[in-house]
Amino acid sequence: FLAQPAIQRDSRFKQISAADVQAFRQILGDAAVITNADDLTAFNVDWMNRYRGASTIALKPTSTDHVSQIMQYCNHRLLAVVPQGGNTGLVGGSVPVFDELILSLSAMNQIEHLDETSGVVTTQAGVVLEALDNYVGAAGYRVPLDLGAKGSCQIGGNVATNAGGSRFVRYGPLRASVVGMEAVLPDGRVFDAMTTVRKDNTGYDLKQLMIGAEGTLGVITRLAIACPMKSSCVDTMVVHVTSSERISPLLRLARQSLGEVLSAIEYMDSSSVRMADTNLSHVSDPLSIPDDPQHSLVLIECAGSNAEHNREKLEAFLEAAFEQELVADGVIAESETQSNELWELRESLPEAVLKAGAAATLKYDVSVPIAHFNEMIDVAKERVKDLGAVQVCGWGHIGDENLHLNVAIQDDTQKDTAQLRLEPWVYEYVSGVGGSISAEHGLGVMKAGAIGYSKGDIAVDVMRTIKDVLDVNGICNPYKVLTTSSQ
Ligand code: FAD
Repeated sequence: FLAQPAIQRDSRFKQISAADVQAFRQILGDAAVITNADDLTAFNVDWMNRYRGASTIALKPTSTDHVSQIMQYCNHRLLAVVPQGGNTGLVGGSVPVFDELILSLSAMNQIEHLDETSGVVTTQAGVVLEALDNYVGAAGYRVPLDLGAKGSCQIGGNVATNAGGSRFVRYGPLRASVVGMEAVLPDGRVFDAMTTVRKDNTGYDLKQLMIGAEGTLGVITRLAIACPMKSSCVDTMVVHVTSSERISPLLRLARQSLGEVLSAIEYMDSSSVRMADTNLSHVSDPLSIPDDPQHSLVLIECAGSNAEHNREKLEAFLEAAFEQELVADGVIAESETQSNELWELRESLPEAVLKAGAAATLKYDVSVPIAHFNEMIDVAKERVKDLGAVQVCGWGHIGDENLHLNVAIQDDTQKDTAQLRLEPWVYEYVSGVGGSISAEHGLGVMKAGAIGYSKGDIAVDVMRTIKDVLDVNGICNPYKVLTTSSQ
């Protein structure tokens, strides 16, 4: 398989004309139609500055009716569309590949209602995750999703990517918490499944198709999300693990002794900790671990309803971990500020890699059995070690066997070589150990050509059939997820 096949612009798609711009102004008003080149830059470039499109227009609808009219128009005119949420995606899915029209959901940012009994919140899709979490938090609930980009990513983008994040270990995949959805299909029809009840066994669950489809089957406009109650007491700690072989037994021990209060368990190898320490002034390694690939930090969070019970469990766990020589050191946060500092280290790792990789960063978000975490990082390091200006590190959500293998490249002349050394090796390795080439970020444009490493021919064929039925003209986020439609 080719990880990133050379992509040709689909000649079926028309270019935006002056008449099109005028039509969009009539639907949305002048202010919501962006055509100025400077203003368009932020919409055309992704978070890593790795993927860059050349769209000449971005639209900012405020209602489902707007989105419906836009999609109907684009389908009729054969204008390709890329739905864009917070633009924090890491696989190039949210920016145009060529000149696709950018449909930004950022002005669809109204939270509608929280049912304080069921915990189901209804909201427009463009609401920023952190804003939604704060809103439900005021009533004692939390969104069952948390990730480092929470201040920018949108709930619609989260659902479109079926985002994972650090609460996955406690609440499972986001798709399990989406109880209702409204979406605009590529031809402009509004698919209304905006129920707020959790149980609904009336045939095919079509909203599940939209979840994780990365905007290739339609535009999500409204959502109903089931939120769990917020835990009244949360404890955070970080431990120092001196050998990769101790990670699996540590995870088993955490599951065994922390049980129902375990709410996050995150791994950071020594290279990623070092990268954060060196490149970011606001974070530091709380346990000063050595710069040795065998060493790592593991962040553990416990959330429950009884502070004493929480602490007892955490301390018993720590004692057992020391006794079994699984950890060499540990620190429990004594205040919310300290807890935030520990989390900040973990959440700032993507930024640290971005800073370290002046020329480029390569990010591989994969699922592999934990026993392979370190081996994979080590082999990756070995493959690029003679390229002086390339640094490799790894971190991830160990409770979900999700490794983020990251590569920071300082020298522009080495970026193609580094990529060739790592791709398709990464995909072959992951496939060989029964993992997934995309644990939580999706396929976007980065991994569309590599889908075969994780999905069989028949599965891909069925995906194409679904795409062709729902998006007859192929206008909805083309070149992403599936390289071509069957047409
Ligand atoms: P965008 O990036 O704008 O879009 C992502 C995809 O969804 C695109 O294909 C786009 O076309 C589509 N899309 C967006 N909105 C809609 C919509 N309303 N309807 C239909 N399609 C839509 N991801 C994780 O899963 N777990 C993590 O822990 C995590 N940590 C991160 C940390 C950092 C610092 C950063 C920068 C990113 C991280 N990510 C993580 C990746 C990213 O934040 C998630 O994929 C997130 O869900 C994307 O949301 P967004 O609103 O930014 O979507």
